[in-house]
Amino acid sequence: MTNEVKTLTHFIGGQSVEGKTNEFGDVYNPSTGEVIAKVPFASADEVKEAIALAKEGQKKWAAMSLGKRMEVVLKFRNLLAERQEELLDLVSLESGKTREDALGEITRGLESVDLSLNAPHLLKGEYSVNVGGNINAFSTKSPLGVVAAIAPFNFPVMVPLAMTAMAVAVGNAVILKPSEKVPHSALFMSQLWAEAGLPAGAWTIVNGAKDAVNELLENPEVQAISFVGSTRVAEYVYQTGTKHGKRVAAFGGGKNHMIIMPDADLEQAASAFLGAAYGAASQRCMAISAAMPVGQETADRFVAIIKEKIEKLKVGPYTEKDVDFGPVISKESKEHIVNEINLGLEEGAELVVDGRNPAICESSEGYYLGPTLLDNVTPDMKIYKEEVFGPARIVVRVNELEDAIKLINSHELGNGVTIFTNSGAASRKFVNEIEVGMVGVNVPIPIPVGYYNFGGWKRSKFGEGHMFGPDTARFFTKTKTVSERWPEDQIEQVTFSFPSN
Ligand code: NAD
Repeated sequence: MTNEVKTLTHFIGGQSVEGKTNEFGDVYNPSTGEVIAKVPFASADEVKEAIALAKEGQKKWAAMSLGKRMEVVLKFRNLLAERQEELLDLVSLESGKTREDALGEITRGLESVDLSLNAPHLLKGEYSVNVGGNINAFSTKSPLGVVAAIAPFNFPVMVPLAMTAMAVAVGNAVILKPSEKVPHSALFMSQLWAEAGLPAGAWTIVNGAKDAVNELLENPEVQAISFVGSTRVAEYVYQTGTKHGKRVAAFGGGKNHMIIMPDADLEQAASAFLGAAYGAASQRCMAISAAMPVGQETADRFVAIIKEKIEKLKVGPYTEKDVDFGPVISKESKEHIVNEINLGLEEGAELVVDGRNPAICESSEGYYLGPTLLDNVTPDMKIYKEEVFGPARIVVRVNELEDAIKLINSHELGNGVTIFTNSGAASRKFVNEIEVGMVGVNVPIPIPVGYYNFGGWKRSKFGEGHMFGPDTARFFTKTKTVSERWPEDQIEQVTFSFPSN
């Protein structure tokens, strides 16, 4: 059967708009290796036109009362929930995620929209009476204007919503540049915003790659940039965006450790490790990359338990039942991960489970890798230093909790970390001393709930501002502080000194 290759569009000025350049990227179904669509790559001029329309749309959107705006956001939220089956199909098709995992992602995405319905509360200012003679002071929060979000491939729905829902709700116009590898979900959500009644221009999709991103980073009409992706690009986006006078929050990669203390329930820790390490083919910024058992005996027992469990994991297409995880996103990504494993072995790591050539590859052109586990990895090895965005996980053995904390603190990435223990004292020491942004205690993937702030430390995040949580509303607004006096009938004295109380 010949596969129909669709040509996708942008979403500009409230409608689907065809690309004007002849530049397109291939969008793949990673479960089969087939090209399913062509996505247009916007030129700088096309992005400029989109920004001009966004500026007009923002004025209309911000002029609507808060109550009316929340009606639109609520309608969008309900449409998302009603049509989640369709969205789920798109997420699985373009990312290869299992349906359960895609559903989890959409559910967490809805959480961001729910949080954005608190915008009226988060937009409340302050008011003080009689701060000076007959002077009252108050502050208000205004939207920034046109803001941009640049998204990664690994969460086609959740991350774009985490970056944009609050930005829209507080009155900005948002321009989203989705990953060119997964553009379908974002285009689908655009139709829902339009149906919900968002004014044309207040929500825009420009598809593309570097040229589109550069125009967003440099254009003076764009006030803020929210970026999520690899550390290398996050740093570039932060430096370029701030050089052009913008607020930038750029979220990068992670190398997340799981400490396993000798007193932990090892069966429970092993099950937690399995899902957090290999779920979504390990393509999560908060996936556990490194198990760090404390003490040789704990390490030997832990590795024996996970080895047995890992060997039973099933990799396959989302269309099959009982699959634990799907393919990685691309052929290049698969090759890169295999190279990382090979290099780790050359550098002296020990192969416990080999997933480089899973059985499914005999019958499918999809980008499958089975779960791989390397033991006795040391901090000087490349596979320890760098994020590996695929199912190759490592065991780093340490003697004491102190050693584990030191090692984790000296890693350049600091997104997430967790400890499995039954000791309150160990947990307290770990929580106090660890230099990482999101921390778990007996919780495998400590992604904060929507009303807490999300963000890593060190080279996992550049700039101030968080995703989710009340900080999102602060990031996407600016404060105006007013001092107000209404003199009564007396004539004011002229004063030349600096006013004081
Ligand atoms: P990526 O950095 O390759 O791409 C992210 C976005 O940047 C895409 O939209 C892409 O088109 C654009 N881009 C890529 N190269 C660019 C360049 N040179 N100039 C300008 N724009 C460019 O990331 P990815 O592979 O799509 O996503 C995976 C990465 O994202 C992983 O490192 C993962 O840890 C990270 N991630 C982080 C978080 C977080 O919250 N910290 C969440 C999800 C994913």
